[in-house]
Amino acid sequence: MVMDETSPKYLSSTNRMINIVIFGPPGAGKGTQSAKLKDKFGLIHISTGDVFRGLNPESDLAKLAKSYSDQGNLVPDEITIKILESEVSKYPDAAGVIYDGFPRTEAQAVALDAFLKSKNTSISMALALEVEENELRDRLKNRALDSGRPDDADPAIIQNRIDVYNAQTAPVADFYKKQGKYVGINGVGSISDIFDRLCSAVQEKA
Ligand code: ADP
Repeated sequence: MVMDETSPKYLSSTNRMINIVIFGPPGAGKGTQSAKLKDKFGLIHISTGDVFRGLNPESDLAKLAKSYSDQGNLVPDEITIKILESEVSKYPDAAGVIYDGFPRTEAQAVALDAFLKSKNTSISMALALEVEENELRDRLKNRALDSGRPDDADPAIIQNRIDVYNAQTAPVADFYKKQGKYVGINGVGSISDIFDRLCSAVQEKA
């Protein structure tokens, strides 16, 4: 049988997955927007921050991860990459995945590409929520009032997360720019306005 683009087999092939990296500094709105995107496009949403916070708190792994995250530092790549891969592997039939909070280093970006390649698929686009630093500080301080997250509560830890983002995560933007997959999105405005911007970008790029 000759395969063409309309063949059901072709459409169900993993190559047709929509894999989105949602990128941006802490407080940019990645979690909020990912939840909306996942519903709209029928994707799985994987937030490495949520995965770490969801570990059994008594486990060594959870304690280790918390020792980094409570200070606003990154959990080491080796651990994070393993956790991400095992999380993705829980959804072999996903139509696509939104990666939220991953990759946060260039090594993670390289590992994610290799992992997806081994599954015959790839990242479709990196949507970057752009928000300036003063606004981020205000948002994180407000979130601390109800999130109960120790890394949201202390201005010095918030500042460390922003600094870690600038030093280790911001360079990941270049990784996706070089691949022509980076789309900058204005992350300031109402949740629904920002969501509309993201949806337009997905529809254009997917
Ligand atoms: P936010 O985006 O609000 O900063 P997250 O919930 O995404 O927070 O992450 C919280 C913490 O979990 C991070 O500060 C970091 O310690 C850890 N973490 C999450 N994702 C990663 C990652 N990809 N690599 C290393 N550490 C991570």
